[in-house]
Amino acid sequence: MHEGAIVRSLFNIVESYRSKAELKEVHKVKAVIGELHQVVDEFMSMYFDFMKAEIEGFENAVLEIEKRYPVLRCDNCKETDILKEAVFTCSKCNSGRTEIIQGNELYVDSIEGC
Ligand SMILES: [Zn+2]
Repeated sequence: MHEGAIVRSLFNIVESYRSKAELKEVHKVKAVIGELHQVVDEFMSMYFDFMKAEIEGFENAVLEIEKRYPVLRCDNCKETDILKEAVFTCSKCNSGRTEIIQGNELYVDSIEGC
């Protein structure tokens, strides 16, 4: 289970931003997470609530997660397709020259506070 490590790194990012922006309280943290990271939202919230209790100014903070589904693009025919299983060949032309163009995201999108 890697949600704990991910939430910890989100907190590190938020904390470094927070000191620069001089936010006393954080109200909302929005993270964008690609589905290829296979995080369980409930575990993310659980770790977030667990860790925020240790940090002053996070008492009312909530975590919002925006998921991005995985998309494969073919270098051969330029088609894009939603990746449904671990098959990385193009569904249109069968080429193996594909790359994942969405679904690997993992970043803090926005922080709200005062
Ligand atoms: Zn193709």
